[in-house]
Amino acid sequence: MPFPRPLQSSELDEAKQASNNTWDGGAIRTSLKTLEAHAYDCNSYTILIWGHAPPQIAQQAAHLLTWLGAAAGFQVYLFWNDNKREVEANEWLTPETVNGGFAVPGIPKIYIYRSEEYERVLLHETIHALKWDWNDLTVQPCWKLPTNSTLMPTLFEAWTELYAEWLWCCWFAPNDPTAWDRQKQWQRFQAVQILARAPTVWKETTNVFAYYVLKAALAPQFNLLLLLGKEVNSMELCTPMLDRLRAKAQTVKPIKLALRMTNPSIHA
Ligand SMILES: [Zn+2]
Repeated sequence: MPFPRPLQSSELDEAKQASNNTWDGGAIRTSLKTLEAHAYDCNSYTILIWGHAPPQIAQQAAHLLTWLGAAAGFQVYLFWNDNKREVEANEWLTPETVNGGFAVPGIPKIYIYRSEEYERVLLHETIHALKWDWNDLTVQPCWKLPTNSTLMPTLFEAWTELYAEWLWCCWFAPNDPTAWDRQKQWQRFQAVQILARAPTVWKETTNVFAYYVLKAALAPQFNLLLLLGKEVNSMELCTPMLDRLRAKAQTVKPIKLALRMTNPSIHA
């Protein structure tokens, strides 16, 4: 088991700086004020943890980075709080109910600020950090949501999240042939629930459409997209599923919803 050490002042300064440089910094600033921090040097990575995460968490984070092939020196800043991602039946999604971390493409350090499904966030942010993202940042104008809506329909984020969830299934359920199908079912359930919350207007303060709806619509084509990437017309590919999700949303009532993006029946 890795042994904790105190943080170096440069590591603490880095965390403070990161909290000021991101629009998502509130959760980190609160953790910096209220939680004690330790660092673990494992497998040539540094895992810095604020709060009472068990030491196995540092070891698991390092194992995931090794599995992904991250280069030595990669840093994970992990703020261990138990804020759950949940919305009531009459509630819309905000950064507080959705976001869990951030990274800058190409920079070998990531920030995670929830304990809930931190592994999935680690995978998502590491994809950004290792620049495994889709290069195509094109915003497609024809998503058929109400015209007075605000929307961030980025394929970039939808793909990164889909890829992270697929890797998550590979890691936690390598011998379960049903895992990926159950994960896709969970995605569709959440997408329909979220679409049902916005029958007349859609106002994003975070990439809700990309994270939940566009991702679920791309998912049936995952293998093809992994093989062919930009060679395929992703818009054309995901439109049939988008239409099905929208049609289904007309027939359901919103219920209280867990927004964790990975299916808890696969790994709690
Ligand atoms: Zn992202």
